[in-house]
Amino acid sequence: MIPAQFDYVAPKTIDEAIGLLAQHPDEAKILAGGHSLIPAMKLRLAMPQVLIDIGRIKDLAYIKEEGDQIRIGATTTHYQLESSDRLREICPLLPACAAQIGDVQVRNKGTIGGSLAHSDPAGDWPAAIIALGAELVAVSAGGERVIKADDFFVDMLTTALKPGEILREIRVTTPAGRLGQSYLKVAQPASGFAVVGVAVSLTRDSGGACQSAGIGITGVASKAYRASAVEQAISGSGLDDQTVADAATHAADGVSVNGDLYASEAYRRHLAQVYTRRAIQAAAASAK
Ligand SMILES: Cc1cc2nc3c(=O)[nH]c(=O)nc-3n(C[C@H](O)[C@H](O)[C@H](O)COP(=O)(O)OP(=O)(O)OC[C@H]3O[C@@H](n4cnc5c(N)ncnc54)[C@H](O)[C@@H]3O)c2cc1C
Repeated sequence: MIPAQFDYVAPKTIDEAIGLLAQHPDEAKILAGGHSLIPAMKLRLAMPQVLIDIGRIKDLAYIKEEGDQIRIGATTTHYQLESSDRLREICPLLPACAAQIGDVQVRNKGTIGGSLAHSDPAGDWPAAIIALGAELVAVSAGGERVIKADDFFVDMLTTALKPGEILREIRVTTPAGRLGQSYLKVAQPASGFAVVGVAVSLTRDSGGACQSAGIGITGVASKAYRASAVEQAISGSGLDDQTVADAATHAADGVSVNGDLYASEAYRRHLAQVYTRRAIQAAAASAK
C-alpha cells in the first residue's frame, strides 16, 4: 500500500503543465483529484516517476456559459457540479450524475476531467457525457483538438487522449426545448461505482412526441456506450410505457456484457434493461 518513489511538480498554468508533460513523455502522469490515480499507485498498478499536479491551476476549475454551450473546466470537482443551481436549471443531468458519485469526500476531491480521462468502466460521468453528446477539449504542445464524447472512450481505462495531451474542458450544448433528463444507477454498495448506470437526455416536440434522445450507459461493458438502438426505438414515439419498455430491451444490444462476483452477465443485462426503462420514464415525466 506504499507507492513507488516519484517526483511531484505543481504547475501554476496549463501551459506549464503541457511543457512538463512534454519533458517527461513516458514517465509522467497528470494528477487531478487523485482519487483513482493514488489508489492505483498504492497498489503499484501505476508507477509514474513524475506527478504533474494540475489541481493547483486556478483557472482550470469552472462552470460557465458561452453562447449556446456550457463549458466545464477539467478540474471542476464532482461537488462543484452537484451544487450548481444554474446547472440544475439548464442541464439537471450534470448535478444528478455528480450527486451519485461515491461519497462526499470523493466528490469534494474527484474531478470530472480525472474521471473522464480515467475511463473506469463503472464510472458515472462517461454515461452522462455520452447522453449529452458533449465535446472534450484536449491540449498539448501541438495545440488543441476537440474530441466527441462518442469517440473519447476507447476501452477499459483507455481514452482517445494521446501521450502529451491534457483534457482541458468539457463542452455541452445547452439543452433547449421541452427537456427531460435523468440519471439512475445501481451502485456497488461498498464503493458507489455503477453496477449499471443510465443517463438520459430527451426532448419532446409541441405534440409531446420524443424529438431527440441521448442515452449513455455505464457499468455494463468494458467502457460506457451510447444505447443507439434504444434511442432510435423511442424517437418520434409518444414515450408511452409500452414503447419505452420495448425499447429498453435493447439496452445492451451489440455490447459484451461484464459478469463479476457482484453481478453475473445475465443479471447485469437485466438491470441495464430495467434501469434504462426507468431512466427514460423519469426523463419523459420531467419533460414539461
Ligand atoms: C472510495 C471511492 C469511491 C468512488 N466512487 C465512485 C463512484 O461511485 N462513481 C465514479 O464515477 N467514481 C467513483 N470514484 C472515482 C472518483 O470519481 C475519482 O475522483 C475519479 O474517477 C478520478 O478523478 P480524479 O480527479 O480523482 O483523477 P485522478 O485520480 O487524479 O486521475 C485519474 C486518471 O486520469 C488522469 N487525468 C486526470 N486528470 C486529467 C486531465 N485533465 N487530463 C488528462 N489526464 C488526466 C490521471 O493521470 C490518471 O490516470 C470513487 C473513488 C473512490 C476512492
